[in-house]
Amino acid sequence: MPETWLKCSACRNDITYGAVHQVCSVSTCNRSRTRLVFCTVSCWDSHVAMLRHRDAWAVEARAPSKEVWVREQASEAAAAAAAPAPATRTVVSTAAPAVRRVVGEASPSAAAAVDGVTLTEAERDMLVVVSKMKKYIKDRSGMNCGDSVAELLSDHVRALCDDAIRAAARDERKTVLDRDLPRPRR
Ligand SMILES: [Zn+2]
Ligand SMILES: [Zn+2]
Repeated sequence: MPETWLKCSACRNDITYGAVHQVCSVSTCNRSRTRLVFCTVSCWDSHVAMLRHRDAWAVEARAPSKEVWVREQASEAAAAAAAPAPATRTVVSTAAPAVRRVVGEASPSAAAAVDGVTLTEAERDMLVVVSKMKKYIKDRSGMNCGDSVAELLSDHVRALCDDAIRAAARDERKTVLDRDLPRPRR
């Protein structure tokens, strides 16, 4: 039974030493700290929507042998100890881009999906406190406020959250921070 090199970044299946697998054409997905590897093109495809790559394709690669991998890990660790070393790639492309997929503007369904998950009914909930929002408008302007305003505002909040999630993912964080959100316009 061949030994596991890494696990698929999408489905967590084992990728064994020397195995043919897929990596992403986007360089930040291949930094030694990130190192996204995928067992199949469809697993690679599942991370594209989340990171909103504009122009990306899967690249067929072969996992290193155990000997090579252990040696590279050791030299990487030594280099990291010596200096903040630039990321080195250890996966070696063996072929031209296998599948090329240009990712354009997100479609409405893709916009509603982060990490390939479409919003459930529960997630379509109101995200603003309707009474407080109406009071704010009333206090500032004396105006009333239509009921559908809160729904649209909730969609805005969701869109901002989705962008923030992508920004955090690009930054290789698992926590969304205030810096992932745009500053309010005033
Ligand atoms: Zn997989
Ligand atoms: Zn990628």
